[in-house]
Amino acid sequence: MRRTRIVATIGPASESDEVLLNLVKAGVDVFRISMAHGDIPSNIERIRRVRALAPDIAIMVDIPGPKIRAGSFGTVAVHLEIGHVIELVEAFGETSTADRIAVEREDILMHLKTGDHVHIGDGGISLVVTKTGATTLTEVTSGGAVVGKPGMGLPASILNDRLPTDDDRARLEALKEEDIDFLAVSFVRSAFDMVSVRSVLSRDDVLLMAKIETGEGVENLDEIVAVSDSIMVARGDLGVRMPIEEVPHLQKLIVRHGIRYARPVVVATQMLESMTHAQVPTRAEVTDVANAVLDGASAVMLSGETAIGEDPVGTVITMDRIVRRAEASFDYAKWGAGLELQSHVGHANQSTRITASITGAAWRAAMEEKAVAIVACTRSGMTARAISRFRPPMPIVAITPSKATSRQLRGSWGIDRVVLSPANDIDELCQVAVAEVKKSGIAQPGDPIVVMAGSATGGAQVTDTVRMIIIP
Ligand code: PEP
Repeated sequence: MRRTRIVATIGPASESDEVLLNLVKAGVDVFRISMAHGDIPSNIERIRRVRALAPDIAIMVDIPGPKIRAGSFGTVAVHLEIGHVIELVEAFGETSTADRIAVEREDILMHLKTGDHVHIGDGGISLVVTKTGATTLTEVTSGGAVVGKPGMGLPASILNDRLPTDDDRARLEALKEEDIDFLAVSFVRSAFDMVSVRSVLSRDDVLLMAKIETGEGVENLDEIVAVSDSIMVARGDLGVRMPIEEVPHLQKLIVRHGIRYARPVVVATQMLESMTHAQVPTRAEVTDVANAVLDGASAVMLSGETAIGEDPVGTVITMDRIVRRAEASFDYAKWGAGLELQSHVGHANQSTRITASITGAAWRAAMEEKAVAIVACTRSGMTARAISRFRPPMPIVAITPSKATSRQLRGSWGIDRVVLSPANDIDELCQVAVAEVKKSGIAQPGDPIVVMAGSATGGAQVTDTVRMIIIP
């Protein structure tokens, strides 16, 4: 089993039934649908189609927040050359050219100052503002080719929108009835942003993912992680808004922080970028994917590679190979022993502290007795995520009564099997656990397994039970 998950972004290159089904076969665990592209009805239609076609794969919907996009450059690459002067204009639905870029946002250019930097796409192309006023002129300082509708990175100080933006509110309204598993929230700057999005969505069956991609997001990481269900290291915008040399270090910091709180953490953007057009990735990309696994990422994500790339399925197959090989070098015992839980470093409440000590005890018992499996009995998925953070070398089996939880666990590291069972009391759960590990061939008579269960005493989710069972 591969234990690190693969997230693939769906787009024109991957939304046919045939490609979607081949992506599932190639190993995709989560399909990401970015609402930055297309209108609300077309995205809702896409969500329903993916759900109907791949009922066991998790769906992550990504809302763009205050992301500004340029009007389309079309499908043929337009080259922006160093030193070339480009005018920026506020316009919607217009095309962009090498001389004039349509900025799809009102009342924004007036805030630019001479000397400000504007980035196009994921940061490869930079412009410097040379004139403001009735016309806004820029000069290309770092050139490159651009297609489609790239995002525009403008100075964070002029993007004052609170989340959710008005456009995101309309998207959240439309998502209220949809069968989705994760909602990724762009440009999160504070815990308040996440709490506001959660209250507008008003659903507790969708896991909220905070995309960390601004300086404020990094500064307020602790409070954001505490109120989020999962985290994304959104390296595209992060590398535009923070000095690019900080990205690898921020990746490690954000991954460690999220895992410590038992939040699945996705490492995203440009992982196999060259495979958008090439059949083989660069050595640097292969190393990047492997290093994300070694950093402890729960999942690695493909964006343009699967959305508009020439070979989405081949790219997933390549990523799967790289991840499996990296996992063979992962030091599981060292990771679990070195894990600093949030209850050791932050201000955890009692139920969080109990879950930390019980899952820590379960991990230690499983390692010392060389258990052949850890079974997490879990209604919301919390107990499974709390043990997954230790990265145990043996399979993790989750038993849950909830189909939604079973799909959401596709986004968590190392949940190797999920069993749907309505069993409730601990003895009954242990019987289901034993039957499942025997049936799947994971355990033989005489093998030890560790079973964990939680309860919702007093309303708070808490993992409070651990048992060692010798398979009869
Ligand atoms: C990113 O910026 O890295 C990211 C994942 O967000 P998006 O693809 O929505 O720009």
